This record gives sequence, C-alpha cells and structure tokens, in this order.
Amino acid sequence: VPNALRNIAPTVWELPVGYKPGMLVPARIFATEKLLHAMDAGVFEQVSNVACLPGIINHAYCMPDGHWGYGFPIGGLAAMDPEAGVISPGGIGFDINCGMRLVLTNLTCDEVQPRLHHLVDQLFYRVPAGVGGHGFVRLSHDEFCRVVEQGSRWCLKNGYAWPEDLEMTEEGGCFPGADASKVSAKAVDRGYNQIGTLGSGNHYLEIQVARRENVFDEETARAFGITAPDQVVIMFHCGSRGFGHQVATDYLQTFLGVMEKKYGIQVNDRELACAPFRSREGQDYFAAMKCAVNMAFANRQVILHRIREVFADVFHRDPRDLGMNMVYDVAHNTAKLERHLVQGKMREVLVHRKGATRAFGPGMEGIPDCYRETGQPVIIGGSMETGSYLLAGMASGDQAFYTTAHGSGRTMSRHQAKKLFKGQKLQRDMEARGIYVQTVSYGGLAEEAGAAYKDIDDVVEATELAGLSRRIVKLTPVGNVKG
Ligand code: 5GP
Ligand code: MN
Ligand code: MN
Repeated sequence: VPNALRNIAPTVWELPVGYKPGMLVPARIFATEKLLHAMDAGVFEQVSNVACLPGIINHAYCMPDGHWGYGFPIGGLAAMDPEAGVISPGGIGFDINCGMRLVLTNLTCDEVQPRLHHLVDQLFYRVPAGVGGHGFVRLSHDEFCRVVEQGSRWCLKNGYAWPEDLEMTEEGGCFPGADASKVSAKAVDRGYNQIGTLGSGNHYLEIQVARRENVFDEETARAFGITAPDQVVIMFHCGSRGFGHQVATDYLQTFLGVMEKKYGIQVNDRELACAPFRSREGQDYFAAMKCAVNMAFANRQVILHRIREVFADVFHRDPRDLGMNMVYDVAHNTAKLERHLVQGKMREVLVHRKGATRAFGPGMEGIPDCYRETGQPVIIGGSMETGSYLLAGMASGDQAFYTTAHGSGRTMSRHQAKKLFKGQKLQRDMEARGIYVQTVSYGGLAEEAGAAYKDIDDVVEATELAGLSRRIVKLTPVGNVKG
C-alpha cells in the first residue's frame, strides 16, 4: 500500500493529485482495510494512471474487488467529459459487455435435487462451453450483423425471447447506435457462430439456491422474485466471446497509431491507448463497441432460451409454468453515455466500467418500473464453491456514478491456482459437498477453485459499508457448468 494513501472514510481511500505527475484528479479506492491490504500493487499504479487521462471527472475509482488488469484495474471506473475527454478500450475490457443474468424458477431445492445431474448434463450439452465453442444458432455473416445492431430485439423477433426479458435487461438489451460497418471482417468471422455459447474459464452457468437464512432483506427479495424458502435460481456469466475481443484488439491498434501522432495525447502505459471521444476514431470505436455489447446481450438471451428448453425437457413443464422469469441482466464491461449530477449540475458523461457493475438507486430513470422503489438488482458472482449475491443499488451510489463491484476478484494467478489445485479432485470434493460441476477442461476448473478468489462476503460487505450497494440475498451453488 503506497504511503501517500489517505483514509478519507472507513471504506474510502484516496491517492491525492501529486501522488504521480500528470494526475488530473485524485484516485479513490473503495475497500475495507482487510481488502485494501489484499490488493496487488498494480491496483494503485493503474488507478493513478487512469487519473491522468484527459477529461476525467471527479476521480478515478477502484471497487473493493479490484485487482490488476489490462491498462485499467479490473474493478475500475472512470467518467469522462464527452467533449474534452477520451474513450479507452482498456477501461472497458476485452470481453465487452461481459455480464451477469439471473433467472427465477418456482422450484425448490428438494424438487431439483433428484434430477440435478441430468439437468446440469443437459445444460452442459445445450449451452456449449470452451474457448472455441460453436452455438446451435446458424447465422450468415449478414444476419450476424443484424444481431449485433439489434441485440435482444433480434432475439425477440426470432423467437428466442419473451417480451418482458428485454424490459429486465440493462438498456433493454440493445445499446442504440451500434454500427456493424465499424467492425472488422475478422471480428464478424470470430463471432458469427458463437451466439448461444458460454466461453471458457471464469464464465459459468450455475444452479443456485436462495436459502432462507441467506435472505438479508425479505421485502426487497420478494420484489426481486425470491419468494419461497430454498427457491432455485439460475445465474450465468458470459460476454461477447471472440467478437468483442477482436473489436477491442482492432481499436487498440488504431488508437496506438493516432493517439500521439494525430491527437498529441500521452499516457503512462500503452495499455491505456485512447482517442478523443469526439474524434472519428473514438466514435468508430464507440459504434463498434456497442455492436459487441449487443452481441453479448443476444448471446445471453439465446442462452436463456436454451436454459428454458432444458428445464422444460427435464421437468416436463412449460417454462412459464416454471416461473422462469428474469430478475435482471447487468453488464460489467462497458462505456456508456449517462446523465449524472456533477458539481451540482446534471450533465452527460461517458462512464467507463471495467469489472464494475452499474447499480442505479431507487427512483432513477433507466431501471424497470417494478424496481423503482428498491433500486436496481445487482448480480455479483462469488465463486463456484462459495456462493454469489443479489444486491440492490442505493441512493448513496451517487458518490461513484452509481457503480459497484462485479465479483470477488482473484487472489492468485490462474497459473498459481493450477499448481495448487487439481481439477478432477476438486470436482469430486465439490460433489461431496453437494455441488455438481461439469467442465470442458479440468485445468480450467482448477484455475477457478474457490480459494483462488477473495471472500465474496468481504467484498459485498465493503460495497454496503461504502454505500454503493446493499445485500439482498446470498445465493449458494448446487450445480455448475464451467467454461
Ligand atoms: P470476471 O471474470 O468478470 O472478472 O469476474 C467474474 C466474477 O465471477 C469473478 O470475480 C468471480 O468472483 C466470479 N466467478 C468466477 N467463476 C465463478 C463460478 O463458477 N461461479 C460463481 N458463482 N462465481 C464465479
Ligand atoms: Mn468475461
Ligand atoms: Mn465478467
């Protein structure tokens, strides 16, 4: 932890301007003392680099699950002035619109248990996982371009969505202004057969239980659809696959070519490659990034369609009859124009969230009517062994552009985890503890062991103490499909 770090509130830490030459605003880290000391040195280095980016407003931020990432820390948040500021792919991440979706059922744990193995095996078959996994949806390149411009709306037109699914998705499952002509042929080629696929590693599809003793706020839980003891829910986590990765790669290259030479911008780290938001390159990337955002929404929507099919097959009941409604779908890797109060004035800002979740508070525009009173549902992964959380946004989230954590964050590298854990043994141990996990790769499974992640209880507690989001229900796993 750097000496210059000041404790400005119990869970808020600040590196002042002057900590590093070129800082335009202070850098803020939300964490308990315990989490702060568990953070790697990269976090402080990177969040103070972000504080140097042109047009940054208020502060550069890092969430309690923060750790070292590409350019920005994972858990990074930065809002830019759209006129004088930049857009930076490193502030969004390679997996553009990686996000979490939570789906209800009206089944209880006891009802699912006898068919759990069959259920998880069927999900494993019907929702392809792994690095190069291909989906069941066959699309031409042209049709794929319509998918990326329309997101979940394409899914609705093509029978992969219920109308209310769109309402329960951030931005209705489509960022307007996506332009497929701004996307490379290579990106389309990597993405067109990946709709409906989970991907690898940290991406997962989990069967979880809302145990009675894990409900923190019964009334809000009910508003979110968690009404019965031991109710079974489905949480899944994935993004824009090879498509988004290629979009990010393409524009990082473009930005490196023009940043200094054409726009005279200098950054502390090449990984912070950026362009003025209003420049041609900046706008092209924004339009391409939105394609990747929409591809990810469509991907999660088609996955939901498959999940409903599998449940219908396994339980011989209609998905509507099974109450398979969405709680919400929320992204954690995006940049978005949003209106926020800045120094007493409402204005439009470009919010970069990378490994950070939007968490709008009660009464705000942009969240479904049914959540107006409670605030936005926030979905946070923990680990396949320990559990995950459903949180709610808070009015005091205004201190950080209504943003919170997105997971627990790693404590060790994938490489270290692979040395420490063995996939097959982990699978057997988990089964003995009542968690049935299917995976395409035992090596990949070992990298994802619960002990490779921080304690999710600590992270969500820190977000609550900081006033960014509050605990509604902790969800514990019984089945998992791992990428
Ligand atoms: P990301 O990969 O988006 O940075 O992180 C997603 C978060 O999901 C991780 O920080 C971790 O806490 C969580 N996570 C990773 N794998 C699993 C899993 O299999 N199940 C659950 N419930 N959470 C996971
Ligand atoms: Mn991802
Ligand atoms: Mn993610």
